[in-house]
Formats: sequence, structure tokens, C-alpha cells
Amino acid sequence: MTVLRHYPPGVVLHTSSCPDITGHSAPSLQVLQAVLKYPSYRYCMCTGGGPETAPYVVVERIDYGDHLYIPKPGNPPRDAVRALCRTCRGTHGPAQQDDLGSGFVVAKPGQRR
Ligand SMILES: [Zn+2]
Ligand SMILES: [Zn+2]
Repeated sequence: MTVLRHYPPGVVLHTSSCPDITGHSAPSLQVLQAVLKYPSYRYCMCTGGGPETAPYVVVERIDYGDHLYIPKPGNPPRDAVRALCRTCRGTHGPAQQDDLGSGFVVAKPGQRR
């Protein structure tokens, strides 16, 4: 039986040696863990596209800014409570303040008003 859940906003998975994240000491997650936790992920080029080349990844959270939930057309993922947002690929659930305890957060100050 599939338990429906909310999806957090989409993230980008990097290797810890990705040039995009140089200068940060970013703890890595096992890729399978990261994918389970952040199903709306995509891979950075640096991973070579998958778990074979990047068994451990660093999660980059994207700041999508303030936006409205606009459902993406098409079928939602089987375990998502509803269609994913067109902007952030999350479901805008109540648990949006996710616990990126062992991940990597990119803060972009100045984007919020
Ligand atoms: Zn990268
Ligand atoms: Zn959204």
C-alpha cells in the first residue's frame, strides 16, 4: 500500500567535490537516502547522472521565492498527495520547513521582500 505524502520543493544533488559548492563543508547523504527524502530532485552535471558515479551526494536546496501553488499538468507521482507545483516541484504541504540537518542549504538573501 502506498502512503501518500507531501513532496518538499525540488532539490539539486551534487557530489561533495562539485565546483558549484566549493568553499562549503557540506556533509553528504547516501544518494538513496537523499532521493527518498527529496523525490523532486535532479542531478547536477557533477554527479555524472546517477548513483553509480555518485553514491554520496550533497543536497542543495533551491530558493524558489514566494510563489503560488500551480499544479503541474499530467499525472502526479504515485505517492504524492496531489500534483506537484509547477515552480518548485513540491506539493506545498504543511511540513515545508524541512530538516536539512545533514544537507546543504543555499541561502540567497535579497530574494524575499
Ligand atoms: Zn554539482
Ligand atoms: Zn511551489
